[in-house]
Amino acid sequence: MLDPDAALKILEDFEFTPRVEVVPTGEALGRVLAEALRVRVDSPPFSKAAMDGYALRSADGGDRYRIIEMIAAGDVPEGADKIVRVEFTREAEGWMTVTEPEPYANIIERGENLRAGEALLDPKVLRAQDLGVLASQGYATVPVSAVPLVGVITTGSELRPPGEQLASGQIYDSNGVQLCAQAQAMQVRRRNYGAVPDDPKRLAAAVDRALRECDLLLLSGGVSMGDLDFVPDVLKDLGAQIVFHKLAVKPGKPTLFARRDNSFVFGLPGNPVSTFIIFEVFVKAFLCRCMGITSEPRVVSGTLAETIKRRDAKRLEYRPVRLEGRQVVALSYHGSSHLSALREAEGLIRIEIGTDRIEEGSELDVRLL
Ligand code: AMP
Ligand code: MG
Repeated sequence: MLDPDAALKILEDFEFTPRVEVVPTGEALGRVLAEALRVRVDSPPFSKAAMDGYALRSADGGDRYRIIEMIAAGDVPEGADKIVRVEFTREAEGWMTVTEPEPYANIIERGENLRAGEALLDPKVLRAQDLGVLASQGYATVPVSAVPLVGVITTGSELRPPGEQLASGQIYDSNGVQLCAQAQAMQVRRRNYGAVPDDPKRLAAAVDRALRECDLLLLSGGVSMGDLDFVPDVLKDLGAQIVFHKLAVKPGKPTLFARRDNSFVFGLPGNPVSTFIIFEVFVKAFLCRCMGITSEPRVVSGTLAETIKRRDAKRLEYRPVRLEGRQVVALSYHGSSHLSALREAEGLIRIEIGTDRIEEGSELDVRLL
């Protein structure tokens, strides 16, 4: 079993140069900026009045000034070193009188906010305010990483699509929808190939096609050691190299990661809680890598509401929790098939290898979902 942090490091350090495309700035929300961009024009581009008022040269002294001109954009005239805000003045017949002393200069100097040539934005997921910053710098288009295509295949002869009647021994395929939604939340393109029965020939045909079509393939189920777990052998037969198989992590021990040429594949355990958590921690990290960024999960700190004990401390455990203010409440879930326990989940906590107890009141980091 590979150490989960070592697996994460493999995924995050993978040699991978994303294809770059150029899109209009207005279309770039949620895309990953592909290269560092620099400031093109000083900001502000000219020395600018910070408020409505009268520009004057303070060396002129006195408190009565003749009004020379009206300036619309707030461009401060040559020689002026102060703006007296309009509230501190009175105007009559072409003259302005200062009625209250103005303590501040109220001038934003040219280039005070940004100077041409300095760093503007580093590669990151672009948010609305970043697009505003780019537009303010005259960027009509931006270079962004190509969006990977993620394929999803669920495996298991017991699976039926939601909407159909269940015969005895059958269950609904929830992982297909769930994995596609997790991929959608990351703004990647996705293709759901549906469920394939536990039949190595049919599985091989589906996987071969998906590997040719997709950048990353997510397989659910069939990855453990059971008689019907064909995923590892099918991948090997199709010429994929297994990068790792089995992690010291709970849930999700059988997790597999492989590559064939420039396509990658995760074999995720079929149990829905495992599938969800392994996507959240490992698949996300790899997809970020594919788009040229390092995933930085949002973390809040809180206080554990009730002591956690566990019998087996050999694996790193990600446990779903909910938050009540600063209180962290671990969700009681009995086994990784207990998907409905995730309804309340707002975050994950890490229980380290070797830790069999965390006391009530301990300070914890919660990785937000
Ligand atoms: P497996 O990893 O194939 O041994 O599956 C482990 C458990 O997860 C079994 O009880 C399966 O029925 C269940 N499971 C597998 N695939 C799915 C799926 N797509 N949706 C919901 N549950 C599944
Ligand atoms: Mg199965």
